[in-house]
Amino acid sequence: MSALIPGKPALIEPGVRRVLGLNPGMMTGPGTNSYLVGDNELTVIDPGPADPRHADNLQAAAEQLGAPIRRVLVTHTHRDHSPGASVLAERLDLELLGPEVPDDGLQDEHWRADRILGDGDRVRLDDRTVRAIATPGHVGNHLCFLLEDSGLLFTGDHLIHGSTVVIAPPSGSMKDYLASLRRLLDEDIHCMAPGHGELIQEPEAALNWTIEHRLERERKVLDALRQRPDSVAQDLVEPVYVDVPDYLHAVATLSLEAHLIKLYEEGRAERRDGRYQALE
Ligand SMILES: [Zn+2]
Repeated sequence: MSALIPGKPALIEPGVRRVLGLNPGMMTGPGTNSYLVGDNELTVIDPGPADPRHADNLQAAAEQLGAPIRRVLVTHTHRDHSPGASVLAERLDLELLGPEVPDDGLQDEHWRADRILGDGDRVRLDDRTVRAIATPGHVGNHLCFLLEDSGLLFTGDHLIHGSTVVIAPPSGSMKDYLASLRRLLDEDIHCMAPGHGELIQEPEAALNWTIEHRLERERKVLDALRQRPDSVAQDLVEPVYVDVPDYLHAVATLSLEAHLIKLYEEGRAERRDGRYQALE
């Protein structure tokens, strides 16, 4: 497995290279992975944050390959994934493809797709085809892209290596997230190229582990809610996330809220004045 070295293109399968962004952090792990797909002409999948140095690195990689960058695809419009498209589009003649932007105040408001992609849409990349798979959950507009000939899935923030992703309501939905994970079990995926971290080599195991992990967390939420009726998410974060360091509790509270909303939507908790009670 090639190491994650910022800026240096790493071949991950024939015709696909990863270029790690220069934005390591609490929410981004080693940084955002951008992928260059193609040999004769290139497509950037998730150009990363609006960082001219990262755009320089993507262009240098393209130059090394002797192939022009023709288009940009984005999995979703969080600010560590799509804003780099604007930087590249100022320099190059590009087609921008991806989802519409949900209005939740957490998105790249500069993103404008030349072509809006939705579930099942196919895009020709050089001599290959990717298919968009709608995977709402982390955020409502999330897409994964499946390279149909090799079974490589670009997962954006739907599944990342080494960590679980934040589900931030209202655009993020735990119910949708679990449904999107289950849906991918029906696809022919041989490897996953995530938006953060290393390749995921055993997709089915990763999907099953993540589904089980989220359901386990849900059980903890329900237990905590039984012990502390009339709670909001903040009241439950300590008992539910005892395994998670304190500095992550503010972020964990968002996913906890998403769990509570799911329980409410499924009739397993009730909500009055924004406070929750367990119903089972
Ligand atoms: Zn994201």
